[in-house]
Amino acid sequence: MVSRVIPVEPFDLVIFGGTGDLARRKILPGLFRRFTSGQMPEGARIIGAARSDHDDAEYRATITEAIEEFVPKDRRDPAEVAAFVERLSYIKVDATGEDGWKKLAKAMRDDAVQAFYFSVGPSLFGALAERLHLHKVARPDARIVVEKPFGRDLASAKELNATLAAHFDEHQIYRIDHYLGKETVQNLMAVRFGNVLFEPLWNAQYVDHVQITVAEEVGVGGRGTYYDKSGAMRDMVQNHLMQLLCLTAMEPPTRFEPDAVRDEKLKVIRALDPVPRSNIVRGQYSSAPRIKSYADDVENPDSRTESFIAMRVDISNWRWKGTPFYLRTGKRLKARMSEIVIHFKEVPYSIFDEDAGRHANVLTIRLQPDEGMDLRVTIKEPGPGGMRLVDVPLDMTFADALGEQAADVPDAYERLIMDVIRGNQTLFMRGDEVEAAWAWTDPIISAWTDRGDRPLAYDAGSSGPADALMLLHRDGRRWRELAT
Ligand code: NAP
Repeated sequence: MVSRVIPVEPFDLVIFGGTGDLARRKILPGLFRRFTSGQMPEGARIIGAARSDHDDAEYRATITEAIEEFVPKDRRDPAEVAAFVERLSYIKVDATGEDGWKKLAKAMRDDAVQAFYFSVGPSLFGALAERLHLHKVARPDARIVVEKPFGRDLASAKELNATLAAHFDEHQIYRIDHYLGKETVQNLMAVRFGNVLFEPLWNAQYVDHVQITVAEEVGVGGRGTYYDKSGAMRDMVQNHLMQLLCLTAMEPPTRFEPDAVRDEKLKVIRALDPVPRSNIVRGQYSSAPRIKSYADDVENPDSRTESFIAMRVDISNWRWKGTPFYLRTGKRLKARMSEIVIHFKEVPYSIFDEDAGRHANVLTIRLQPDEGMDLRVTIKEPGPGGMRLVDVPLDMTFADALGEQAADVPDAYERLIMDVIRGNQTLFMRGDEVEAAWAWTDPIISAWTDRGDRPLAYDAGSSGPADALMLLHRDGRRWRELAT
């Protein structure tokens, strides 16, 4: 299969925070990959902006190093890296001061798509929006890309939405959730709405329950100060797991268009039931040989922040009433894996004897590692001796099925940035969606904060607290094993 890369229009992309970790690790290596795929036209220019002093040559050298560090050797040719960094320039700009804005305004072209990526701390988002407007840097059709976190509760998200809305229309604002840029996440929509096979079964009548897991092996790393104020609920559930839940649960949109898709996701969030305390398990990792505990990682011995959360979420609408969605995410777990698992119900009546056992179909959508899908179907166990049934996988690992094309699948960030340039907001969160997600999250967090609940300790490298297993056991179900 030949991959089809459609070049985008010439653009000026300004990366505020162009020297930061995200820019070096994800944004610029991603743009380099789009450059080597032939998607960047001659007129594409990237301007790094931050407060430190650099000239263009120094900035190009910094980004060359970043590409050497973050793009595998066999995927970068030094001549291509040199040609790519020629597209880069640097302007010293202070988000909260007046330095550099005139120079930036002068650098922008009238005849290219304009995009401004806010890859800086969230406290600077408002200042950047205001100054882009004040110094007439941004045209009325310019786009801004806003990183996570988008607020830490409903009040702050509303305030941030209002600040951005004072200077930009909703159709200009691209709120990033990089989970939406993942190939498999989009495949979830293709599978649901591109086949007749699944949609008739995609409801409470046929689906027993859904499990959504995002498990990490790493701890909080260098993000301890930020993470300790946030925790798994704010950092992962309110955004990433919520988006996965929405795409799994939403009604078919009328078209694959930004507002049609986002309207359907919003309806799901609004149909989520409040979650009682008994349906939530919070955990915090303790130490293991050569691994520091969470409290040591964040240097706060009395921290009550959760590094793990598991919860049962119920949706009150016609499609899903009675089918629970179990969400689970955490750090320092025994495997790094993200997946959505649809557990179908058993057949209503078995014509086989009891020896045949009980069986149900399971569809697993793997986000990482090895993006792909696996459908377990029940067949007869081969051989003599009567009718015994066995579940076997119909496995489709994208890398096997699509060969070279799968190896060239864009990383979430590269895809999303190209969508910004194309002006396609389908994979970005709308303001009302983010607010609705916080409106559901806030009471859950304040309940445990008001009670002063401590998360349960779990061993680093385990599957989380034992109570998380009980959450499913008591409903007669089992989590899928955390394994890669
Ligand atoms: P970072 O490494 O601390 O970089 C911050 C960048 O902002 C630097 O380039 C810094 O350069 C610049 N900056 C700081 N103050 C500024 C000001 N007043 N005016 C202009 N530029 C300023 O942060 P990061 O990890 O790249 O994160 C950036 C954003 O992405 C944050 O919102 C973060 O939450 C989000 N994010 C990051 C990751 C990640 O993996 N890193 C993942 C998801 C989301 P100077 O100091 O030279 O100004």
